[in-house]
Amino acid sequence: MSSNGLDAARADDLVQRALAVQQHAYAPASRFHVGAAVRSRDGRVFVGCNVENASYGLTICAARAAVCAAVAAGARDLVAVAIATDLEQPGRPCGACRQVLAEFGLGMQVLLVGRAGVRQQTTLRALLPDPFTFADVLRGQRDPR
Ligand SMILES: [Zn+2]
Repeated sequence: MSSNGLDAARADDLVQRALAVQQHAYAPASRFHVGAAVRSRDGRVFVGCNVENASYGLTICAARAAVCAAVAAGARDLVAVAIATDLEQPGRPCGACRQVLAEFGLGMQVLLVGRAGVRQQTTLRALLPDPFTFADVLRGQRDPR
């Protein structure tokens, strides 16, 4: 299988990493703990959890935290993400996270994990079919003044 493929073992690993980092979520306000793990094309895995703040607007979601960890390590080509919540039916990433995930992996596989290990698999394209990209920015740029 190619490096961007998500076979069962890789999927299980990604899910386990998301579940492990979910334990570190800092969510005193919502008490909604989320863990995320992203896999880069070269096979590395980066994790993130949600980090809330007394200034609520500064809260960082788990998926975005994982993307930032990947980029900080030089990984910009992401092929899969696992997101773990305690919801009965697996939770989906918020709109902001979908947009940030799209920046580094429009074609990525998305594994959603809920309570008791309930899983759903989808794609970022299904969750965000028509993302805003830097191609849009370039098309909309004005000439320098
Ligand atoms: Zn989010």
